[in-house]
This record gives sequence, structure tokens and C-alpha cells, in this order.
Amino acid sequence: MLETEVLVAGAGPAGLLVAAELALAGVRTTIVERHAERPPYCRGFNLNARSLDLLARRGLAEGLVAEGHQVPHAPATGLPGPLLLAGTSTDHPFSLGIPQTRVEEVLEARALELGVSIRRGHELRSFTQDDSGVTATIHNGQQIRARYLVGCDGGRSTVRKQAGIGFPGVDARWFALLGDVECELPYGVSAGPDGRTLFVIPRPGYVRVVVREDDPPADKYEPVTLERLQAQVDAVLGRHVELRAPHWLTRFGDAARLAERYRDGRVLLAGDAAHIHPPAGAIGVNVALDDAFNLGWKLAATVRGTAPDGLLDTYHAERHAAGERILANTRAQVAIEEAGDEPLADLMRRVATHPDGNRALAEIITGLDARYEPDGHPWLGRLAPDVPLTVAGRETHLAALLHAGRPVLLDLTPSRSFDAWSAGVEVVSATSPSTSDIGAVLLRPDGHVAWVTTGTDDDGLAAALHRWVGDVPVPV
Ligand SMILES: Cc1cc2nc3c(=O)[nH]c(=O)nc-3n(C[C@H](O)[C@H](O)[C@H](O)COP(=O)(O)OP(=O)(O)OC[C@H]3O[C@@H](n4cnc5c(N)ncnc54)[C@H](O)[C@@H]3O)c2cc1C
Repeated sequence: MLETEVLVAGAGPAGLLVAAELALAGVRTTIVERHAERPPYCRGFNLNARSLDLLARRGLAEGLVAEGHQVPHAPATGLPGPLLLAGTSTDHPFSLGIPQTRVEEVLEARALELGVSIRRGHELRSFTQDDSGVTATIHNGQQIRARYLVGCDGGRSTVRKQAGIGFPGVDARWFALLGDVECELPYGVSAGPDGRTLFVIPRPGYVRVVVREDDPPADKYEPVTLERLQAQVDAVLGRHVELRAPHWLTRFGDAARLAERYRDGRVLLAGDAAHIHPPAGAIGVNVALDDAFNLGWKLAATVRGTAPDGLLDTYHAERHAAGERILANTRAQVAIEEAGDEPLADLMRRVATHPDGNRALAEIITGLDARYEPDGHPWLGRLAPDVPLTVAGRETHLAALLHAGRPVLLDLTPSRSFDAWSAGVEVVSATSPSTSDIGAVLLRPDGHVAWVTTGTDDDGLAAALHRWVGDVPVPV
């Protein structure tokens, strides 16, 4: 039987990033992916500001930003105008147009470089768990033993179902057909004689046509044919416009479901396996990355045996709550769009064009509002901003301190010594021109602030270290 420390099911964005994070922390990790090859089509084309901020904490954002196309606003549905990202709580005040397939390539290369074993053409069919681990069975009968199993196997997750984790929510009320095709339709919205519309989105070498489906089949997974898409397009436009050379044909709806729990013993869920939501705000890849980034370091510390009690359960506490917010805001975006109500549109226009309203909406829709501690200093529980730093006479910046994926105690009043606190934590003394009100800050490996002081006192630091890092010596 093959043995590994953590088995990840699914090599999508969530699976690849969580595996890379585990491997960065020295955990032996294996991914099983049912597809023998990466699919030839591309679903998403967007990384949002929150994802870029997170990826930058591992040095992964810069290369992607150099390749992609920057748009200064957050993708949103149903709002009357664009939500500008300038002035929001991000180091990357833009959305990045980049194919999901390219993001997956970059994450896969990183996972492989860090030693992750990726077994393509391996479908996880079932598993059992006991006190010390999980035994998974692959479609070919092979068994894999691991201490933990992470289900990153998409919306129809086998892992979630086999673990008996409920997936409550609402079924789709409508479906849309999507075709990556060639045709002569103009980019943007095309309307037919009865006011119904379809969308034509430019993509590299083809266009993506999206149109609501009049009579979806009882089985929503029934394959979409070019004939079906053609008939729907012609019906909406009231004339025939030829669709050719289909690259990808599929159907999606506005179902919204959230796993009851993100952990069941030694089994964890991340990404679409844990939540599905209406197609608003182009958020799916981004939430998957956010989940994976939150889970990776916590699971690694648990496997290594250094995690404080309860650390792994904070994954459910933090990300299930985030999932609830994402379902709520994506459903709200669709509801506003569907209402077609002029007074509501006018209210939203006024909120969205007010600087504070714009900021709040942009941060909610992108997940930039993530804050895992509701009270205290404004930095507490939030992603620490990537401020410039001088460390031992060298110019650097905060995100670079996190590239190794370790907790960091950043001391911005270098007269003090934190040596006695240093077990399991990297202590960095620095100065910064942008943090005059911060004395010291404890950063979790994901860059979120676990403790902060504005002065020179250490009140609460011991408790924060015990909660997030584990046993540490008492200061002398
Ligand atoms: C048409 C469309 C457009 C989209 N556009 C965007 C966008 O612009 N921006 C955005 O952020 N999101 C977008 N999304 C959503 C996004 O694609 C998903 O949310 C994202 O891929 C989720 O990542 P994941 O890793 O959780 O799951 P997935 O990417 O679905 O990966 C799951 C993986 O698990 C594998 N798998 C499944 N079952 C098993 C098994 N039993 N054993 C082993 N492997 C298994 C699958 O083959 C797959 O590779 C779009 C989705 C669609 C359908």
C-alpha cells in the first residue's frame, strides 16, 4: 500500500495550492486527480485582488501579474457601475485577467518543485478513516494510506459525500448554456426582438457565448450539444447566426450550497467541494485559493505535531463563515440583477458611487474584508499590508518575510528583544516608514495578524503564541 502523510483528492486550484503549502512545510503530500490530462478548456479567467495578496505572501503573484491583464475594478454582477479597487484594503488594487489553466500550471510547477507527488488518471472512489489515518481506494483498486485526506475534488465531491457531510442549500432556479465557439456575433450583449439577451465574451482564439436555457433537461449533467446551443442562440436572437468549431460546451446554474462542516475527523474539504454559489463576481477560483491558503499551514502543523490544540478546527471556523458570506453576496448580486427594479438599481448606484459604499462593496465581493478577529486593533485578524521594511540595513517588504511559510514576530521597535519568545517563530527586527503606530505584530504563516501592539508592551502575546503557534517558552 502506498503511504503518504496527506492525500489530496483533485488537482484544481484548491488541491494544487494546499499540496504546495503542505510540501513547503515539509509534509509528504500526494495528489490523486481523476483526469489523465489537464482538461483542454478553461473555466475562469480572473484572479482577484485578495488572491493576488495571498499569492504574494509566497512570492507567487509577481510572475502572474507580469503575464496577466490588469483591470482597475472588481468583477461584480447586477451593480450599475464598476467597483473601483483603488483605496480598498489591498496591495493589488486591480483584478488580473489570466486563464485559470495558467494559474493551475504555475501552482502545479510549484507543487512539483516542492516534492508533491501528482498521480493523474487516479480517481478516488472511497475511503475509510480510523484513529490514526485514512485509507483511500483508487478506481484501479490501489490503496493509499495517509494521516489526513483533503477533498479538493470539486462541487460533486466524492470525499464530501463519502464523509457523510451534508451539503444544504438551494437548487438552481435557472441554467445557462456556455459555448466556446467561433461565430460572427459582436462582443458584449446581443438582444433579440423580445428583449432576451445573450453574452459574447472575447477569449484567446475563440468567443465564449452564454445564453439562458429555456427548457433545461431533467438531468443537468446531460451533455450540451452544439445543436442545442445553436437552437437556443437562434431562439433568443430571432434569427440564425452560425456557431462553429466548439472548443467546450457546458451548462451552469445558480445553485448555492455550503458543506455543513469543513472537517470530519481526518477529512477536510476545500474549494468547490465545500461550497458552490451563483456565477457572480468571478469568485470560484479565488475562494478555492483562499481556503487552501488558510488550511495548508494549519494542517502542516497538525501533521508535524507542533499545532496547538484546536488549531485545525479554526479552519472550519474561519472558512465556513467566509463561505456563508460568499453564498450570501453572490446570491444578492444575482437577485439585484434579476429584480430589474429601477428604485433598487438607483439605490445601488448611489451606494456604489459613494466612496465608502464603493469600498465596502468591492471589499465584500472580493473577500478583501476577511477579518478573523472581529474586535481590537484594525490590523488584528486581517491580512497585514505589504508595507516596506528595512531589515538589517536591507530594503524589503512584509510579504517577503512570509515566503518560507513560517509565523513571524515582526518587531518595529528594535530597542526591545523578543529572543525569549522565539521558539517556532521567526523574530524579525525592522523599521518601516509606513507603520509609525505599530510596535510589533505576530503574523500567522498566511499573513493574517494574530497579535499586534501599538506600544512596547507584550500583553496578549503569550496567549496569541499559544493559540496560533503552539508551546513556547515563558519570557524571562
Ligand atoms: C464556466 C465557468 C466559468 C468560471 N469562471 C470563473 C472565473 O472567471 N473566476 C473564478 O474565480 N472562478 C470561475 N469559475 C469557477 C472555478 O472554475 C471553480 O470555482 C474552481 O475551479 C474551483 O477550484 P477547485 O480546486 O475547488 O475545484 P476544481 O477546479 O473543480 O478541481 C477539482 C478537481 O478534482 C478532480 N476530481 C473530481 N473528483 C475526483 C475524484 N473522485 N478523485 C480524484 N480527482 C477528482 C477533478 O477532475 C478536478 O480536476 C468558473 C466556473 C465555470 C464552470
